[in-house]
Amino acid sequence: MDYKAILSQKGHRLSEPRKQVIELLQQSKVALTPQQIHQALQQKNCKLGLVSVYRTLELLTELGLVTVVYDPQLNPGYMLSTLGHHHHIVCQGCHKAFEFAGSNDIDQLIKRVEKETSFQVSDHLLQLFGLCPDCQQKATGGGF
Ligand SMILES: [Zn+2]
Ligand SMILES: [Zn+2]
Repeated sequence: MDYKAILSQKGHRLSEPRKQVIELLQQSKVALTPQQIHQALQQKNCKLGLVSVYRTLELLTELGLVTVVYDPQLNPGYMLSTLGHHHHIVCQGCHKAFEFAGSNDIDQLIKRVEKETSFQVSDHLLQLFGLCPDCQQKATGGGF
């Protein structure tokens, strides 16, 4: 995804701190908390304050470039996202997150809930947990 183009479309610059945060998230297979991002950037000698990390994440989330993904203990972290309707599945073993395309995935469920509650459902939040292939192998390979 061309982050620079998307930012500038919405009237934002790809400033150095924004670039650093995006690059860090690009390299990560697990969701990162603002604290983890802050620490990792400090190790790379990028002096970005924690407040700025929060602000940057807020902006990127608003633009749909970054999504909140929860770890198995339900702590929120951040991941880069592709545009469009997507959800994440997170490994309970290694916390690796994978994106999968959402389609009309939960239409049936929404229809049922609307009927039962008389609500008009307009949005949803969905995330799955499980064991990734690597961790399944570790679990059966006698590693534990
Ligand atoms: Zn795993
Ligand atoms: Zn969905």
